Formats: sequence, structure tokens, C-alpha cells
Amino acid sequence: MLRPPPLSVYIHLPWCVHKCPYCDFNSHEKNQATFQIDKKNYLNAIIKQINLADTDGRKIHSIFFGGGTPSLFDPDEINQILIAIKKKYSLNPSCEVTLEANPGTIDLPYFGGYQQIGINRLSLGIQSFNNKHLKELGRIHSADDAYIVAERANQIFHRVNLDLMFALPDQTLNDLENDIETALKLSPQHISYYHLTIEPNTLFHRFPPKLPDDDLSAEFQEHIFKKLSMHHYEHYETSAHTKEGGACLHNLNYWQFGDYLGFGAGAHSKITKNDEIKRLSCYKNPQQYISQANNENFYIEQKTITQNDSIFEFMLNALRLNEGFQINLFESRTGVNFNNIAPEVNEALERGLIILTDDIIKPTNLGQNYLNDLLQIFLRE
Ligand code: SF4
Repeated sequence: MLRPPPLSVYIHLPWCVHKCPYCDFNSHEKNQATFQIDKKNYLNAIIKQINLADTDGRKIHSIFFGGGTPSLFDPDEINQILIAIKKKYSLNPSCEVTLEANPGTIDLPYFGGYQQIGINRLSLGIQSFNNKHLKELGRIHSADDAYIVAERANQIFHRVNLDLMFALPDQTLNDLENDIETALKLSPQHISYYHLTIEPNTLFHRFPPKLPDDDLSAEFQEHIFKKLSMHHYEHYETSAHTKEGGACLHNLNYWQFGDYLGFGAGAHSKITKNDEIKRLSCYKNPQQYISQANNENFYIEQKTITQNDSIFEFMLNALRLNEGFQINLFESRTGVNFNNIAPEVNEALERGLIILTDDIIKPTNLGQNYLNDLLQIFLRE
């Protein structure tokens, strides 16, 4: 029998000042002439979707404003969404409420406003503290902007995440070292360090930059892990590093195959109810999402996921966690008896990709480095 897991809320705010050449998110350059009216219509649509959602009486474990660039919305606008959520749902007293911000869009006084309306975690898209790399990545902020904004964020929010990227065009070990040192000087609670990858449907895919080769990228990654761990950051997920007690509850809920309600263009929901798991996807294009909202129609797709899909999706998420997962978490989140996946688990054990200690399954270093190979084992027809 499937037990409903913790429930999170994700709000997608899809506009940016400029589309970065590496970005494959559902993000769109704002139209200066229509942006104020687009925002108003979009907020109305999101609030309508929240009001019509089936709450099932469950409490909200975390809320995440992602994008796009949520910091293009001022504190009053973000608060309109929060008020709608609070009217409809009760929040856990410890509910984590994160907002993503771009250092190039932040009005510093906004920070106080965000904090006052209940944002208790700020995630800053820094990517690099090197002006040459910021320019190549198409970022709209300078290294100085990033530093000033991060410093200010640290003064206002106890919980700050810095997003950084490595394996950047022509990046050297010395460049990387400077980025890490600058981040450490700021001493944020959490650092997410992503490997720059070239995704289809991006400008970088059409005009690929010269990136460090695999060996150098692996050296960079090892250096990041070593350096952050020396400064007491625990590496707890593929790209996530935290000081004690600072793991991102919202993302942990994804990685532990929790439930979530996604509001806004292209947002996805996963809902466990009546012994089945459903996935819902909203219309992706913001204008289409707004126009469909007029008909109270938000979802382009709704489907019940099969048992085989849920096994794979659980592994896809949980094997990203360095501490792995307990067998009973797997059973309660997927409704699948562990014996059902014994052949796959045995194969992964024999290939040295996981270890099983008591009732916990963890990826080994080899499993982390060859995560795709490990996941393939759990992919069923
Ligand atoms: S700011 Fe973020 S969401 Fe917007 S285009 Fe750049 S990477 Fe994508």
C-alpha cells in the first residue's frame, strides 16, 4: 500500500532578462514592452491554479520559487502567491521557502521584503566569480555584483545557497581555485556546484565553446570535493554541498521520491493518492499557460505511472544521494516489494556500483562516477 510522502510546492516563474547560451530550462526572455502585463496575467493564472488544486488535507513541507528568474517579481508579487498557498494549505511549522535570485536583477532592498513575507532560504545563481567566464556564459551580472549581492544575502538570510558551475570554456585549475576561494570567503550555508554540460536546444549546442576535456573536468570535480570538504561542507548529493544541518529540504524531497505540486508554465506534479502515483504537466509556454488558465485548464498531460517507471524514477533520484536510501523508504514510496528488484540489486552489487549494509543501499564511488550505467540496470522495458 502506498503511503503519501511529504508534499512540496514548486512555483515556476519563467522569464529572464536574457537567455543564457547553456540554458535548457523553460525560461523566456522578457518582453520589455509587455512584461508588467504578462506578470499580472501570469500571477492571476497561478493563483487560479492554486485555488483549484486538490489539497487532500496534506501539509506543505517546502515551497520553492524557481525559474526563469523569480527575482524579476518583487516581494509584493511573490507574496500574492504565498498568500494564495497559505489560504489553501497549511504549512508545516518548519516549512522551507526558497526563492531563486539572479544577482543581475536584484534590487538589494528586495531582500528585506522577501524575508518579511516568509522567504527563509535564498538561492543565488552566481555561476562564477570570473568576469571572463560570466561573459562567456551570457550572465547579466559581473563578479563584483555577485559578491556584493551574496554578501548582502548572507546578512539577511540565515540560509543562502550559491549556484556555481565548473568545466567552463577555457577554465584553468587556477580559475577554479579563485572561484572556490571567493565562494568560501562568503561562507554560504550551501553550495551547489554544477558541471557545465551542453544540452540540446541551446545556443552552446549550435555553437559549442571549447570546454575542458573529461580528464581535466574530473580533476576539477575532485578538487571541488576536496576543498569544500576541508571547509566542513558535506557533499550529500551529486552537486550539493552543505554546512551541518543545511541540506535543501525541497530538493531532498525530490531525491527521496516525495510528492510535489507544480504551479506555473511547464511545472510538473507528482501525487500519490488512492494507491497510485500520478504525474501532471502544465502547459509549457507561458502565454499558452495563461490563456488555458482562462478555461481552468492547466495540464497538457496527466498519467498514472507504472510500477516499472516508479522503480526507475525512485533510483534516478535516490541514487544521487551519497548516503543512499533505506529499503523501507523504497518500498513505501514505490509500493514495490524489495524482493521484486533483487536481480537488479544483485547485478549492481556484483559490478561494485552499490553497497548494501544492513538495510541501506548506497552508491559506491564507482556508482557515483558511472551513475548512468547504474541507473540503466533499473530500467525495465
Ligand atoms: S538566468 Fe537561469 S533560467 Fe534564465 S536563462 Fe540564464 S540559466 Fe536559464
